[in-house]
Amino acid sequence: MFDYTAPDNLLANRVILVTGAGDGIGRAAAIEYARLGATVILLGRTVEKLETVYDEIEAAGHSQPAIYPLDLRAAKDEDYLELAEILEGEFGRLDGLLHNASVLGQRTPLSNYESRTWRLVMHVNVTAPFMMTQALMPLLEASADASVVLTSSSVGTQGKAYWGAYGVSKFATEGMAQILAEETENTSNIRVNIINPGATRTNMRAQAYPGEDPALNLTPEDIMPVYQFLMGTDSKGTTGQRFNAQEMRKPEPLPSDS
Ligand code: NDP
Repeated sequence: MFDYTAPDNLLANRVILVTGAGDGIGRAAAIEYARLGATVILLGRTVEKLETVYDEIEAAGHSQPAIYPLDLRAAKDEDYLELAEILEGEFGRLDGLLHNASVLGQRTPLSNYESRTWRLVMHVNVTAPFMMTQALMPLLEASADASVVLTSSSVGTQGKAYWGAYGVSKFATEGMAQILAEETENTSNIRVNIINPGATRTNMRAQAYPGEDPALNLTPEDIMPVYQFLMGTDSKGTTGQRFNAQEMRKPEPLPSDS
C-alpha cells in the first residue's frame, strides 16, 4: 500500500471536486477529503447516490459538501462553463480536481466492438475530463497550489486483449496527464498526477470480473492514502508522476521528451 498517513487537518480550507462521487472509489475519496477538512463538490450522474454521500458526510460532522449533478455523457462546453461560473461565485478558486468517473464499456475483441459504445467510453473517460479541466483551469490557477489527479489503470500502460475502448481511453488519460503536467509545470501552481487504483472492490470491478470473489480485493477505503497525499500540501512540487495505490511509494517519473 502507498505509505502515507494524512494529518487530520490536511485538507482544511481546500475546495476539491470529485467526479463519480456517488459510488466506488470516488465516493470513498469524497468522504475522506471531507473528513480531512475539505469542502467537496460531489459531481456525478445519479442524484440519489450523491445525496446519500452528502448525508453520510453531514452525519459524520465533516465539512459540508455540495452536490453537482452532471452526466458526462451529455455535458457540453456550456455546461462546463456554467460549472466554472458557479464555483467561481461560491469559492473563487478550485484547489483539487479528482477525475475519477469512468465507464467500462464492452469486454470483447476489437473486431466485435460496437462503435457506439466505443464513442461513449472515449467521451466519458477522455473527452469529458479534457473539457472539464479546460473550463476549470482559471479556477485552478486561482489556487495557491492546485492538484489535478487523473485515474488510469494497469490496462492504460500495457495493451491487454478484450479491454477495448476502456484500455485505449486509459492510454489516452496517461497521455493527457503527461501533456498537462508539462504545460503547467513552470507556468502555474498546478500539479498533475496519475493514480492507478489497482484491483478494487467496486461495481466496475465486478462488471469486469463477474466470476471473481469480491472479497479478494481491497476496498476503496483501503486505497485512500495516495488519494490523500496527492490532494494535500505534502505533494506540493510533485507533478507528472504515476502512482500505484496498492504499491509501496514508488512514483514513476513520466517521460519528459517524446
Ligand atoms: P464505479 O463504476 O464503481 O464508479 C464509477 C463512478 O463514475 C460512479 O459514481 C458513476 O456514477 C460515475 N459515472 C459513470 N459514468 C458517469 C457519467 N456519464 N457522468 C457522471 N458520472 C459517471 O467505478 P470504480 O470506483 O471502480 O472506478 C473509479 C475509477 O477507478 C475509474 O476511473 C476506473 O476506471 C478506475 N479503476 C478502477 C479499478 C477497480 O478495480 N475498481 C481498477 C483500475 C482503475 P453512477 O454510480 O451514477 O453510475
